[in-house]
Amino acid sequence: MPSEFELIARYFKRSASCAILGPGDDCALLSPSQGMALAVTTDMLISGVHFFPDTDPWQLGWKALAVNLSDLAAMGAQPRWALLAASLPCANETWISSFSAGLFACAHQYGVDLIGGDTTRGPMNLCITAAGELPVDQALCRGKAKAGDDVWISGQTGLAGLGLAHLQNRTQLFEPLLSRCLLALHKPIPRIELGLALQRHQLARAAIDISDGLLADIGHIAVCSSIDVEIFLANLPPLPDECEPALARICQLSGGDDYELAFCAPPSKRLYLIELAESLQLPLWRIGNTVTKKEVHKSEVRLIGEDGRPVPITQKGFDHFA
Ligand code: ADP
Ligand code: MG
Repeated sequence: MPSEFELIARYFKRSASCAILGPGDDCALLSPSQGMALAVTTDMLISGVHFFPDTDPWQLGWKALAVNLSDLAAMGAQPRWALLAASLPCANETWISSFSAGLFACAHQYGVDLIGGDTTRGPMNLCITAAGELPVDQALCRGKAKAGDDVWISGQTGLAGLGLAHLQNRTQLFEPLLSRCLLALHKPIPRIELGLALQRHQLARAAIDISDGLLADIGHIAVCSSIDVEIFLANLPPLPDECEPALARICQLSGGDDYELAFCAPPSKRLYLIELAESLQLPLWRIGNTVTKKEVHKSEVRLIGEDGRPVPITQKGFDHFA
């Protein structure tokens, strides 16, 4: 049985190219680029809450980092560093080596150094802290949207939710949709290039990554920016047609685990965003717009049907304590 320190040395210690000092000492040493602010975020993945205990460890390693990078993307930050606090029930080296390979595959793809962490024995819990850089005033904060902005989303929401529904026997999916949904659930792609382009070319004012459900997360932008949002059903990406349409719609609006970006941009940026979608090979959908608040004391997301009337919203998204 390997010791804690053997595990760290074998599976988590790699040279860090963009840190002064990587893992191995009491602290890592970082040197942020001149004039840049650090964007820092942390996300936990708990067995039985965020993933099934028998989830493929490679994909889990990928996802544990990817969900953090998604937060950096939503701010418009360039990812740089990550720390891993791992609580593992046992030193199963087959599992750990596969987890480590998935984590480093994601780190390598997005230019992130694992600069340290903590490794303990306990119930399976994987907590990553990630940091990136961006010019101080350029962050795509949730509170920067203005009434009259367009609301956009990247890619397609709802696939991960459908994959989860399949695994929980709430529906049955068939190939090729099944593989697409399971990949979306287990190996999310953080929209780093999109977040960076929005920030660098000042194409968006506010952004959020969709982790808890489209309506819930756009609701956070609405509250922080003190505006209402109107989303038009007719403008949403088409639902996959090889599944139950009602469930597909619920997953699209409130499924969670999507890690696409939702952002608010002035209408003057439309042509640039269409070009950006082309150059990133990533569909961008203009699904609605922001409006002045109807009520002073609350911000609202309204879903508008094809007939122009509001559609009642039953379920906004996931809440651990709801
Ligand atoms: P300390 O007791 O000083 O907190 P540890 O013994 O916990 O240090 O860790 C030793 C070194 O290994 C530290 O530099 C720490 O950042 C690094 N480390 C521990 N666990 C991990 C991990 N899961 N991933 C990356 N680095 C790790
Ligand atoms: Mg420690």
